[in-house]
Amino acid sequence: MTRQFEFKNELVNGIHARPAAEIESRTKAFQCQISLVNRTKGITANAKSVLSLIGVDAVLDDVCQFIFDGKDELAAFEHIYHFITQEFSYCDEPIEPIELNDSLLSLPVSLKASNPCYVRGSIASKGIGQGKPIICSQINLHQLADEAEQQLSETVTDHLLVGLEKLQQQLFSALAAVDSKAKEELAILQAHLQIADDTVFSETLLKHAKQTNTLKAIAVAADELKAPLLNSQSSYMKERALDIEDLCTQLACLVVGESLKKPVVLTSNSIVIAENLTPSELLGFDKSLLKGIILAHAGQTSHTVILARSFGIPVLTGIENLQSFIYGSEWVVLDAQYGCLIREPDHSVTEFYKLEARKCVAKNDLLAPFMTTKGITKDGQSMALYANIAVGLEAEIAFSRGAEGIGLFRTEMLFMDHPQAPTEQEQFEIYSEVVKAANGKQVIIRTLDIGGDKPLAYLELPQEENPFLGYRAVRMYPQYQAMIESQLRALLRATALGDIDIMIPMVSCVEEVKWIYQLCHQCAEQLTMEGQSIGKWRLGIMVEVPSALYFLEKISSWIDFVSIGSNDLTQYFMACDRGNTKIKSLYDSLNPGFIAFLRDIAVTAKRSGLELGICGEMASDRRALPLLLAMGFDEISLSSPNIAMLRSQLHILDSEACQCLLVEMVSKETADEVRECIDAFWQQQSQPEILDERLVIHCEAKDKTSVIKMLTDNLEIQGRVIRGDAAEQAIWDREEIFATSLGFGVAIPHCKSEYVTHNSISIAHLSEPIVWNDVENECVSTVIMLTMSSHDKGGTHMSIFSKLARKLMHRDFRQQLMQTDMEETEKTEQTMELLRVCLFKEIA
Ligand code: PEP
Ligand code: MG
Repeated sequence: MTRQFEFKNELVNGIHARPAAEIESRTKAFQCQISLVNRTKGITANAKSVLSLIGVDAVLDDVCQFIFDGKDELAAFEHIYHFITQEFSYCDEPIEPIELNDSLLSLPVSLKASNPCYVRGSIASKGIGQGKPIICSQINLHQLADEAEQQLSETVTDHLLVGLEKLQQQLFSALAAVDSKAKEELAILQAHLQIADDTVFSETLLKHAKQTNTLKAIAVAADELKAPLLNSQSSYMKERALDIEDLCTQLACLVVGESLKKPVVLTSNSIVIAENLTPSELLGFDKSLLKGIILAHAGQTSHTVILARSFGIPVLTGIENLQSFIYGSEWVVLDAQYGCLIREPDHSVTEFYKLEARKCVAKNDLLAPFMTTKGITKDGQSMALYANIAVGLEAEIAFSRGAEGIGLFRTEMLFMDHPQAPTEQEQFEIYSEVVKAANGKQVIIRTLDIGGDKPLAYLELPQEENPFLGYRAVRMYPQYQAMIESQLRALLRATALGDIDIMIPMVSCVEEVKWIYQLCHQCAEQLTMEGQSIGKWRLGIMVEVPSALYFLEKISSWIDFVSIGSNDLTQYFMACDRGNTKIKSLYDSLNPGFIAFLRDIAVTAKRSGLELGICGEMASDRRALPLLLAMGFDEISLSSPNIAMLRSQLHILDSEACQCLLVEMVSKETADEVRECIDAFWQQQSQPEILDERLVIHCEAKDKTSVIKMLTDNLEIQGRVIRGDAAEQAIWDREEIFATSLGFGVAIPHCKSEYVTHNSISIAHLSEPIVWNDVENECVSTVIMLTMSSHDKGGTHMSIFSKLARKLMHRDFRQQLMQTDMEETEKTEQTMELLRVCLFKEIA
């Protein structure tokens, strides 16, 4: 006789490893045979095996049944019945929702409409990339097995049995070492231990002992064990296949007796995923195939991130459950513009990114002329745009992107990432490479900025309580004089190939400048005595510590230039750790107090006859640009992909207006007020016509979503909106209230938005009509879109709208506007003329 009972599975995440482990530990206490049947799916499992239980794929609301057969079936029935009805629903905790980075933009309407499967992450380097996800530490067991030698099946069996025992011991030790408060980790380790101890696990492995070798047996068994999980309807269950993979990889390492990690070689467009990536690992990849990077943790100022930015490689960080998300995925889109990672993009997602790429190309085309010009304002005031670099080979890229010089070469990268300091000769070669690439342009090379939070393993620096206020940069030079001398000698020798400006970081008092000045001259004299040729060199300092304001004048006879390190200067001025996200609202270089302070430094530097530059992140902020110009900066130095964009903005500015802006900004109370005023200022700087033939497009669009995207993208390309997606959202917000088709094949979508910098009328002539109003199935072939700034207080918006609506009632006007038998250019001209007559004359 058998006993049985039915129940509905109430676990939101299904019966995965943890609840299965709970069932297994209870059923194992009985001798009778116990099965779990998923009635909904018709799958039966041995209830004494975690793996078998997971394999029934019981998701929420599936009807399941326990069957007991054997001597103690009554006791088993009662015990398990009690467990399932009273305790089972509490034995698993819901998955924590992923916390979003609050600074992330929401996804654009047109992307959301395509229902992408995505997770969000923080943006460390902007851009968009697509490719095969490559997990850096991932071990391909099949590949390793194919490379390994053949083994007899007896040997394979022995290795597997020994390996399994070691695996269990390893998991036991790990479990013992875990802090009892780390609930998640404990539960996962316990579940792993149960799988490792599961008869299905060992049986599956041993079943494949006849494979070519032990690694192959593990690889094939792993595939077999993962298959039912991967076929599950529940994404949570699918993710559990990772647990099997993890265990099998651990087993493989124990069997082989070594780490199986190998350097990754990219063979196709790839998105590299790593816990951490050192700068040298990044440099080791083929950059033409490296389309993006996802790191578990990395700050905005990590050197790997800085490097990625300069190579234009997008980087996302802080994605939770990343490995599970991408597991089994062949292609991903890394969007470090909106901060999301999309797996297996379908056709409409791919179309969205094609449009994004087109927008990017169009914007770059418009910026191309600014790659070759010099930084100059509309009224002729010049301010050069330099590049920040972190490795020698970046110099050439920076110059090709229009850098007028190198404003900061962060040399510490040459010292980090190596078991010991680079030799004088090694450094000489790198500095020479940079000056050669500069071909006569100014090159500022910063001496070692190390210590505190940037340790060098070989220096064995002590841990400090306040590393940012501690033993770092120039403060350490006297103790490590030999190392600094070798850097200075290498720099001085490289001057034989081109001029070099040597810059000292973190200077906070006169003595430091005096000391380094003497050391530089000593090194130069020594080199001359050794018969080495030396070219022109100058000395300068970074202004990163507020005290500099009061000693600049005193040191002006020893140095020639200063460069503001606004990243550190802001942190020391505001007494606010630059990496602490809790106080990130305080860390703001647009704080009116900081602007006033910067202006005072600029005035002092100029009065002291010093050249003035800036190389912190503030230099790449478009909002800060008119202020820096007004302060008289000779050069601003930023990561090279932003140079052309900033130069194009500089060309719009009027220097006198910038002076007035600076005075006004210093008088403001908050950084938010400063931002608001600067945004209004930028709008006044260029006032294009509301009608412009560049706003007329002729296109083929599959639906309303694409037309609105194309039109708002074009507004972004033409610099009439701050963000195309925000204008797109504003248009859609109106469309949700009522569709704007007028019934004659024309629609007039419109909006008023703070993201619109210049009022615009855009026109799309469609090659095929599209449905605009789903309810009435109304089609349109001409779209006239009005985008108005929320600063526009007059009635322009409604006046244009009503005039257009009235005019469109006339068949003649419609026919002329929608005439199809015309060349695009002719049609654009005619459209412009019609609209000008209809609106412009009367409005004006
Ligand atoms: C700065 O502090 O602004 C700077 C450029 O130096 P780093 O970011 O390397 O500290
Ligand atoms: Mg600094």
